Amino acid sequence: MTTVINDVKTYNLYINGEWVSPISESYFDVISPATGQVVSKAALGDEQDTKRAIDAAAAAFPEWSAKTGRERAEILTRLYQLMIENSEQLAKSISVEMGKPIQQARGEVMNAAEYVLWNLEEGKRVSGEVIPGAVKNRRLQVIRQPIGPVAAITPWNFPLGMVTRKLAPALAAGCTVVLKPAEQTPGSAILFFELAEKAGIPKGVINLVTGTPQQIGDALLSDKRIRKITFTGSTNVGKQLLRKAADQVKRVSMELGGHAPFIVFEDADLEHTIEQLARCKFQNCGQTCISANRIYVQESIKDQFLSLLKEKAESLRVGNGLEKGVDVGPLVSKAGLNKVEEQVNNAVEQGAKLVTGGEKYEVEGHEEGYFYKPTILADVQDTMMIATNETFGPVAPIFTFKTEEEVVAKANDTDYGLAAYCFTKDLSRSVRVSEALEYGMVGINDTVLSQVEGPFGGIKESGMGREGGTDGLADFLEKKFISTII
Ligand code: ADP
Repeated sequence: MTTVINDVKTYNLYINGEWVSPISESYFDVISPATGQVVSKAALGDEQDTKRAIDAAAAAFPEWSAKTGRERAEILTRLYQLMIENSEQLAKSISVEMGKPIQQARGEVMNAAEYVLWNLEEGKRVSGEVIPGAVKNRRLQVIRQPIGPVAAITPWNFPLGMVTRKLAPALAAGCTVVLKPAEQTPGSAILFFELAEKAGIPKGVINLVTGTPQQIGDALLSDKRIRKITFTGSTNVGKQLLRKAADQVKRVSMELGGHAPFIVFEDADLEHTIEQLARCKFQNCGQTCISANRIYVQESIKDQFLSLLKEKAESLRVGNGLEKGVDVGPLVSKAGLNKVEEQVNNAVEQGAKLVTGGEKYEVEGHEEGYFYKPTILADVQDTMMIATNETFGPVAPIFTFKTEEEVVAKANDTDYGLAAYCFTKDLSRSVRVSEALEYGMVGINDTVLSQVEGPFGGIKESGMGREGGTDGLADFLEKKFISTII
C-alpha cells in the first residue's frame, strides 16, 4: 500500500494482488508542475518486475476469462461505485501531479468512471453470430472471445481517463492486464488500483508497473503471453511500439498524436464558436491530442474573431490548479514549457503577430511552476514550426482562408488524422466538410469528442483502433469461426 512520509507518498508496484517493492529497491521522484516540489516517489520497476506482472496476468487469465460477462460486471459495478465515492481524492491526485484545474480533474474522474460503467454494461452483451451455410448439414457460427493478457501504456495528460478507457473494456471483455502509467502521474492510477482491489478484482487480473519506460515496454512486447498492446502517447513512441509488436503479430490499439484543424466559416455563431474554441484550446493547458492546433478563420471575419478570442483568452485565470477559480494550470514539465516557447518564438521571428500572451506567467509563491500565458498568434504561415508540429500548450495560432475548397485541402495536409472541427450554420456545408475531412473524428459546432458512447480514435499516423462505443470492447475480443457437420 501507499506510505506517506512528510506528505510525500511512496508508491509500490501492484503484482498478483500485492503491493510490492521493486527489485531495484529504487524509487523516482514525481514532481508537481505547479510548485516544482516532489509530491511522491514511485517504484523504479524494470524488466524483471514486468516479467513477474506478466506471470500474474497470464496465470489469472483462464479464470477471469471463464467468468460470465454478468459476473465480471458485478465486480466492475462495485469499482464504479468506489470511484464515485472517492472522486475527490482521485481528482486531487490528478491535479497535483499533472497540474490541471481541480474542476477539470473532477470532470476527468466522472468521465473515467463512465468508461467503467459503459463497458461493464457492454460486457454483458458480447454476442456472436449464426450464419446460414451453403450445404444442409453444415452449421456455421461465430463466437467472440477475450484476446488474452493485455499490456496498457498510458500518458500523463489524462492520467486516470486513459487508464479506464483501456482497462474497463479489457476487463469487461475478460482480458487480464499489465498497466504502465506515465512516470509523471502515477498517483491516480495507484489509487484506482487500490479501489479495484477493494471492489474484489481477483489477484493477478490487473497489475501495475512503474519505472523505466523502455525496459518495461520491451519486456511487455517481447513476451508471447501478452497478446495485445493498447497505447496512448506520441506518434514517435507509438511507431516504435508498433515495430516491436510486429515481431509477434500482437494486436495493437494506438491513440497517437493529433494536429487538429479548427475551421470557422463566416456564417458561424461567433459567440458559441469562441466558447467552444477556448474550451478546446485552453482546457488541460492545451495538452490534449484533440486540442485545436491550427485555427482557420475565413478572411471576412478575422478582425472580429480575433478581438473576441483575445477578450476570452485574457479573461482566463492562470495558476495552481488546486486553487479556486483557476482556468489554466501549468504545463506538465520544463520540456513542455520549452517546446511552447520555441514554437512561439519561431512563429514571431518569421512574422506572426502576437495578439496576446507569448511569455511565461509568474504566479506568486510558485516561482518554480511551468506556467505560460494563454497566447494568440495571428498571421501564421504554413512554413512556421507551429503549422506542422503538435503544440501541446496554450497557444492558438490563427490562419486565414478564402474558400471552402482551400481550407479543406489545408486541413488535410498533414500526416495526422485524429480530430477536426468545423463551425458553420450552413447545413449542406457541414455535411460536405465533415465528409471531406480525413480525420477519425469531426466536431460540427462541437468540440466534445471524448464521449463514452462514441468511437474515439484516429486515422493516418494518429493511430488505429477505437476507444468507446461498441468498438471499444470489440477491440479486446477475437472472433472465432466454427463450422460443424451434423
Ligand atoms: P509524451 O511525450 O506525451 O510523454 P510519450 O509517448 O513519450 O508521450 O509517453 C506516453 C507513454 O509511453 C508514457 O507512459 C511513457 O512512459 C511511455 N513510453 C515512452 N517511451 C517508451 C518506450 N520506449 N517504450 C514503452 N513505453 C514508452
